[in-house]
Amino acid sequence: MLKDICMKKYNKEIKDCTNEEIYFALLDMTKKLADGKVSEEGQKKVYYISAEFLIGKLLSNNLINLGVFDEVKQVLAENGKSIYDIEEVEPEPSLGNGGLGRLAACFLDSMATLGLHGDGIGLNYHMGLFKQVFENNYQKETANPWIEADSWLEKTDVTNTITFGNLKVQSRMYDIDVTGYENRTNKLHLFDIESVDESIMEPGGINFDKTDIAKNLTLCLYPDDSDEAGNLLRIYQQYFMVANGAKLILDEAKAKGSNLHDLADYAAVQINDTHPSMVIPEFIRLLTAEGISFDEATEIVTEVCAYTNHTILAEALEKWPLAYLEKVVPQLVPIIKKLDEKVRNRYKDESVYIIDKDQRVHMAHIDIHYSHSVNGVAYLHTEILKDSELNNFYKIYPEKFNNKTNGITFRRWLLHCNEQLAAYITELIGDGYKKDAEKLNDLAKFYDDDAVLGRIMDIKKQNKVVLKDYLKETQNIDIDENSIFDIQVKRLHEYKRQQMNALWVIHKYFDIKAGNLPKTPVTVIFGAKAAPAYTIAKDIIHLILCLQQLIDNDPEVSPYLKVVMIENYNVSKAAKIIPACDISEQISLASKEASGTGNMKFMLNGALTLGTRDGANVEIGELVGEDNIYFFGESSEAVIDHYAKADYVSKDYYEQPEIKKLVDFIVSDELLEIGQKESLERLHNELIVKDWFMTLLDVEDYIKTKEGVLVDYEDRKTWAKKALVNISKAGFFSSDRTIAEYNKDIWRL
Ligand SMILES: *Cc1c(COP(=O)(O)O)cnc(C)c1O
Repeated sequence: MLKDICMKKYNKEIKDCTNEEIYFALLDMTKKLADGKVSEEGQKKVYYISAEFLIGKLLSNNLINLGVFDEVKQVLAENGKSIYDIEEVEPEPSLGNGGLGRLAACFLDSMATLGLHGDGIGLNYHMGLFKQVFENNYQKETANPWIEADSWLEKTDVTNTITFGNLKVQSRMYDIDVTGYENRTNKLHLFDIESVDESIMEPGGINFDKTDIAKNLTLCLYPDDSDEAGNLLRIYQQYFMVANGAKLILDEAKAKGSNLHDLADYAAVQINDTHPSMVIPEFIRLLTAEGISFDEATEIVTEVCAYTNHTILAEALEKWPLAYLEKVVPQLVPIIKKLDEKVRNRYKDESVYIIDKDQRVHMAHIDIHYSHSVNGVAYLHTEILKDSELNNFYKIYPEKFNNKTNGITFRRWLLHCNEQLAAYITELIGDGYKKDAEKLNDLAKFYDDDAVLGRIMDIKKQNKVVLKDYLKETQNIDIDENSIFDIQVKRLHEYKRQQMNALWVIHKYFDIKAGNLPKTPVTVIFGAKAAPAYTIAKDIIHLILCLQQLIDNDPEVSPYLKVVMIENYNVSKAAKIIPACDISEQISLASKEASGTGNMKFMLNGALTLGTRDGANVEIGELVGEDNIYFFGESSEAVIDHYAKADYVSKDYYEQPEIKKLVDFIVSDELLEIGQKESLERLHNELIVKDWFMTLLDVEDYIKTKEGVLVDYEDRKTWAKKALVNISKAGFFSSDRTIAEYNKDIWRL
């Protein structure tokens, strides 16, 4: 088939095509194969609405899911081409930010794989999230255009006029095929404005006129919201997404015979975090316009919608000033006021009102009152929602609250990213695990098999070489595959505590200077983007880059310790980094990481977790047992108690000489010579006088525990066994399991 496409498209044999030509030919071929698996059977359909879909490159995954990867790889090889070189040609879609967006992508894969009729609804951001480059040891943001003339996006003829307070825009729907593993194809519907204008982006940066909605609406994911124009733009984007989505959902239901009173028999809508919350008042607006009473419309919508909460960080729960909504979406304001009134008539507790006394609209409150399901994303997270953060709601609606522990698709995070390990697992236990991840448990019979443990370590080593070569090629960085790869890759946030890892680096630097040389050198790898307006996060990146330079230039230390900050961490980089990892750093302040999914990817690829008892780490610990994970730090209860009593004083910890020495190194002569004084001093001061996410509370236990991990690494056989235990227990974290639970408990397709 590929041969024919190349002939027809370019009048060339495969061997004479360029990698670009082969990529576009494969794009055509894949789309054709995927289209053959689309079907509209089944009355009820789920719509997963999300501001982000961090889908990553699609070619190889689609080939795997369509069952032709090996064949294509071989045909290419026979023609002197490599599938891996062709993968490099594909631009990575820039439609997401971090875990929440990656989760949405994994969920789409699993819905299709389980044969569920479920589509995604989102926005087609032309520049996506910014691209990160490092300049003078600092993060700089540049635009990240990713859409090419020929891409996975298929233009549809679905168009709408979307009305805002002061303007109307024309929308158009673009579709991306979502292939299931040896199953159906679903669609990711991405809405765009016809009048988008990429040229308004300031060259070399990420700034543009935030008020020019007709041109900028779908330019960027999460435009800077540090001013009013930015806030308004986010509301424009959110309404644009849900107005198009709601229209599509009602049109599809009607086409299947719904009279709209029975909408819940045709549609289940999952609201991914609060960005799509306006879909609730928008549905009510549309249903009442069709003659349905307000009360009945409210009931219908409640039956259709379900809400996923992703965070307990108060600052991340959206609260829009009513005045902003009046400007952008005046048509929704009377509906939101009525919804608030209904709540006020029933409950006297101000904390559950939708509109607060400062005239701010709590988007999550709309979701909780007017959805039939509210779920957290890991056991601990859901318990915290019920017991503290959303306790007042839990008391009203105990039946709505449920847990759906996150998952990851094993097609991408094992079969694709770690082909060798997947092949070896297949050799050991057959390939049933590809469809039923719990079958990985069959690996248990090899826990004490030296030959198997040896192979597991060999494969790890080869993956380390792959990462080494990749870093050499992309960032001209040399790393040693015989060192321990200690990795923390995730968005940069103080609660994730990259700064604590940096303090360990400083500790190790002192240790090596003092002559305590590690048996095996350690390579500490970071990868993280900081939100452009998040100053302290950028200071932390600056510190890490300065440490990287300091150590590289110190011949006493560099043979034993290396720090690497990977530029522009994204899905393709994750796929190269994760299989090479020995130690997975999951060190968030307990209670703050809702679930994490990076932790699951690392475990599946045979890394051992060094982490706090937070998010899904808790469940990893239960599955693998305390001997096969390294926990440290205060418990979530203790942390929540510190916040409640406001009794954490970082200065008290800083005064301990051992800790003071580490923190003060941030503003040492050595680092000030390399870095920017203002930035390093700001971070130093933050840790001493504020430290909202309690770095210094756990740093001592962290260092002690990590030193223990390094000692354990010296016993390779025991280490390999722990790695195998982790792989064998990872089945629970397949997003196929998560999606089966969503369907059973919430969507009921
Ligand atoms: C999985 C993933 C994340 C989420 O990582 P966490 O450690 O769970 O925060 C973020 N970014 C990318 C590119 C990912 O693949």
